[in-house]
Amino acid sequence: MRSKAVVGNWKLNGSLAANEALIRALLREIPRENPVACAVCVPAPYLAQVRALLEGTGVAWGAQDLSRYVQGAYTGEVSGPMLVEFGCRYVIVGHSERRTLFGESDETVAEKYVAARDAGLTPIFCAGETLEQRERGETNAVLARQVDALLKRFGVAGLDRGIVAYEPVWAIGTGKTATSQQADEAHAFIRARIAAKDAGVASRLPILYGGSVKAANAAELFAMPNVDGGLVGGASLVADEFVAIWRAGMNAVRQQPK
Ligand code: PEP
Repeated sequence: MRSKAVVGNWKLNGSLAANEALIRALLREIPRENPVACAVCVPAPYLAQVRALLEGTGVAWGAQDLSRYVQGAYTGEVSGPMLVEFGCRYVIVGHSERRTLFGESDETVAEKYVAARDAGLTPIFCAGETLEQRERGETNAVLARQVDALLKRFGVAGLDRGIVAYEPVWAIGTGKTATSQQADEAHAFIRARIAAKDAGVASRLPILYGGSVKAANAAELFAMPNVDGGLVGGASLVADEFVAIWRAGMNAVRQQPK
């Protein structure tokens, strides 16, 4: 059985006071041991705070980006080993906001993925098409290009123990969610692309869905055979919503055939 995860992406949000209130609310509901990994990816300055609050709990933490470099004259960068020092388990790489707003190419994203793995982090590799690309029927071609850049740079073994997130750009922060069918098709395509190189790696790989996941649509999405949980932006800032999404993951696991 593949592992499942519900991961929050706080993006550029938070304050010491708001973070503490949010985390304390999550910890009231999320037990220490559970079959669906729960994590929050927070802005780097808050890593020390979340580590202090989350150490020894059932909620892990991570970052939203990392440098492809380990150290040196790279002003403003934060390296994988630095994230590890703050107890991060996860790091998001290739989020569409990084790709479109900060010009990250497929190659840069692949290098960041390698840097994350070299540091011992679990990268959450994001891939997804824009609305124009979907309307032109290019969804699979875009996903193939993004995944292939990673396979080319790192080889299929590099995806073992990683996580992929399918995040259609048109669904991120827009309130528009992919239908469970659309999500499952894209996940199945990504899995098949990786299976063509190594069926074992593909079958073990968790593929999360991201794009306006909410308490109201999580159960339907997570019930799909290729959807192994969610990468959650806006709704991860609201404790009740995020807990309900994580619970939908728990229910999906319970309903899985043994
Ligand atoms: C995200 O930031 O990865 C995301 C999916 O955002 P939202 O849930 O707000 O669409």
